[in-house]
Amino acid sequence: MKACHNDSLARPGVFRHCLGVVSRIRIGAVVVTALAAALGGVAPARAAPRPTAVERALEASGFYAGKTMVEVAFTGRQAHRPLGARTLRIGAHGFDVAELELALAWQGFPSGGIDGRFGPELRSALIRFQRAAALRPDGVAGKTTFARLRRPPRSSPIPLGWPLLLQVGDRFGPRSSRFHAGIDLPAPAGTAVTASAAGKVTWAAPRGSWGNLVTVDHGRGVRTMYAHLAAIDVKVGDWVAGGTVLGRVGSTGDATGPHLHFEVRVDGAAIDPLQALVRLPAADLQPG
Ligand SMILES: [Zn+2]
Repeated sequence: MKACHNDSLARPGVFRHCLGVVSRIRIGAVVVTALAAALGGVAPARAAPRPTAVERALEASGFYAGKTMVEVAFTGRQAHRPLGARTLRIGAHGFDVAELELALAWQGFPSGGIDGRFGPELRSALIRFQRAAALRPDGVAGKTTFARLRRPPRSSPIPLGWPLLLQVGDRFGPRSSRFHAGIDLPAPAGTAVTASAAGKVTWAAPRGSWGNLVTVDHGRGVRTMYAHLAAIDVKVGDWVAGGTVLGRVGSTGDATGPHLHFEVRVDGAAIDPLQALVRLPAADLQPG
């Protein structure tokens, strides 16, 4: 356990937490095996880490067994309530709130930082999840919402092609104190980025931390997003075939170096792109 160093949040007998306490990301053996299969053995074999407290709690309550990878340091005297043991609403804080944040993120609705505090961002993500799940969008997590969160996340109804034939860097999942809603494909600046499938361009301009972003709507609720581009070669309204060049790899927006950040949305939920991309032999994926 790492200590939380943000003492401004510390009060006697109160759950103490801060963004810096989510100290490590660890990839579970199940996920590594699945990725290795998806990438034809590209993913390096790693020993199974011991499950964290959050992982154990999520497994015990039926949430995404083996797929939660964040270790949340926890101090204070509150019990580790399992997710679902109480109704959660804005103002709540605790271990189960961190579990709710993770469960929502795996369902495709990340709420910003994973900090165990039920603030406006978490409420808004919960409402988006409830709407997508056809539940009453009240922003309160009760029995019905918990039951829905236990279901498997959405999957893409159409197969998608790789926008770049390069090995994956950061994957979909918890990253530091946040949740990475796509995959990163590191590549030299200027590398062509191609459409994963046929569709209509619905965004082709800068957009916040994504930098220069292209979004393609493929129908059936599926959209793909190509971020941090150095240059954009299409415009909104264009119909593109799968394999059409959309732009060039860059590092615009919130990027530390040239790479493609690639997201897949199904009915608004961010899904793991590796579950939707066609499987390729390792030899077809070049190091970035
Ligand atoms: Zn990324």
